[in-house]
Amino acid sequence: MEKKRRIRVAIDGPGGAGKSSVAREVAKRRGLIYVDTGAMYRAVGLFVARRGIASDDAEAIIECLPEIDIAFIPDGDRGVMTLCGEDVGGQIRTPEASLYASAVSQIPEVREALLDMQRKFASGGGVVMDGRDIGTVIIPDAELKLFITASPEVRAKRRFLELEEKGTPQPYEEVLADIIKRDKNDSERAIAPLRPAEDSIVFVNDEYDLEQTICYVLGLIDATDHIYGRKS
Ligand code: C5P
Repeated sequence: MEKKRRIRVAIDGPGGAGKSSVAREVAKRRGLIYVDTGAMYRAVGLFVARRGIASDDAEAIIECLPEIDIAFIPDGDRGVMTLCGEDVGGQIRTPEASLYASAVSQIPEVREALLDMQRKFASGGGVVMDGRDIGTVIIPDAELKLFITASPEVRAKRRFLELEEKGTPQPYEEVLADIIKRDKNDSERAIAPLRPAEDSIVFVNDEYDLEQTICYVLGLIDATDHIYGRKS
């Protein structure tokens, strides 16, 4: 019997496009492992922030890299992010952690330190990974590559509502400014800038809600599995 090759799905795009919610949900519905690479950059950012190091002090950040012991423990569609053994899932989602994550991700040494860990997760297949450079750098040969995006205003509105729901509201103008700043950092950085891979499918979801985006991605996963799944 031919061995079924397990699909690798790479999902990239800017913050607030719904990538992680989509990645998590499609992983759940298709029995794949979800790997949140943004959480890894966030954990590095949290370590640096806790140390009181300025987000733009690249030298000090590089110096403390050997001490940063992070692990992502995949657990189906969830996964636990630990920093020096502590579960930091609840602390890496603050606006401050977002800006720190965006700043540390511009440092080549930080990206290099996370590269092997990310590739190892992809090597066995059966994964959905989301981030900024998954289709361009981490697994450029992924069976399915997607770039999910929406306008800054739509993404800011979604994040604004999300923060309000979580009981940590932030003014819309501030949320929009953060999004624009992170977009600029992510797309203008010298190393692994945010951009769609040449052969990725670009999906602009301004007009689509989460469930519609999920259904669209599920359709692509099923079609890809149908085409490639039987090759070994
Ligand atoms: O996806 P998320 O918003 O959690 O990512 C946090 C930050 O980590 C992003 O703003 C981006 O700068 C960085 N990142 C990255 N490459 C990835 C994933 C995230 O540079 N693969």
